[in-house]
Amino acid sequence: LISRKHQAEDTVVRVGDFQVGNGTPFVIAGPCSVENVEQMDAVGAHLSKEGIKILRGGAYKPRTSPYDFQGLGVEGLKILRDAAKKHGMYSVSEIVAPEDVEMACEYIDIIQIGARNMQNFELLKAAGSVRKPILLKRGLSATIEEFLNAAEYIASRGNSQIILCERGIRTYEKATRNTLDISAVPILKQESHLPVVVDVSHSTGRKDIMFPIAKAALAVGADGLIIETHNNPAVALSDANQQLDLPQFSNIMNNLRESGYLS
Ligand code: PEP
Ligand code: MN
Repeated sequence: LISRKHQAEDTVVRVGDFQVGNGTPFVIAGPCSVENVEQMDAVGAHLSKEGIKILRGGAYKPRTSPYDFQGLGVEGLKILRDAAKKHGMYSVSEIVAPEDVEMACEYIDIIQIGARNMQNFELLKAAGSVRKPILLKRGLSATIEEFLNAAEYIASRGNSQIILCERGIRTYEKATRNTLDISAVPILKQESHLPVVVDVSHSTGRKDIMFPIAKAALAVGADGLIIETHNNPAVALSDANQQLDLPQFSNIMNNLRESGYLS
C-alpha cells in the first residue's frame, strides 16, 4: 500500500489545515521531553513566531537507563496540547504502548512511534487502527526494507497517513550520536509515496553541524526536518547536549531561509 508501484502520486498527510508533503518544506520543533507548563509555553511562543506549525515534546520517554527521566505521561500530553492550542500549532508526541494509542488521540494531533519501537508490531497495528497521522521513526538498526515494512503494517490496518522519519542508524562511527543515512531519503522517496522527514537532532547529537546537515537533508528531497529545541537546554531533563536554545533555533531558521532551503 505504501509503495510507489501501488500509488504514483505523493501522499499529502493532513494535520488539521496543515499539509505535510505538499512540496513546501517544513520544520517540527520542540523539546525532547515535556517538562512543565512554563517550558512548553516559552518554547511554543517562540516557535510559533518562527512560523512553526508542529510542536513536539515527549511524554513517554523510552530512555536507555531506567534511572533517567521517564516523562510525565498523560499529564505531559495535556501540557503539550495546551501549549500547541494556545500558540496555534499542532502537536506530536511519542506513544510506546498499543493500549495508549486511542487515548493519545484525544490529546495530540500526530502519534509518534519511536526508533526503539519501530518493530513493535502490536503498536504498529494499534497505530493503523486509528484515524490520526503517524510519525514513524526508523529503528536504530533497521534496514530501509524493514522500515518500509513497519509503515506497511500501519497502512495495512487502514491508516495511510504516515510520515517516515530518518533519524540515523547505528554504525561504528562515534563522532555523531547516530549515522545519518542520507541515502535513505531519496530511496524512501523513490520506493514510497509517503512524506519523509529527517531528525537532525537525534541523528547527529551535535548542534555544531546541524545547519549543514539540515541543508543536506532538504537538498536530497526531505519534506521536512525535526529539530529539538528547548528554552533552557542546560537544565533539560533529557538530551540536554543536542537541544538548541531559542536564539540558536532562530539562527538556523534564518540561515535555512537565506540559503533558500526554507521559505
Ligand atoms: C524522540 O524523538 O523523542 C526520540 C526518542 O527519538 P528516537 O526514537 O529517534 O530515538
Ligand atoms: Mn530527544
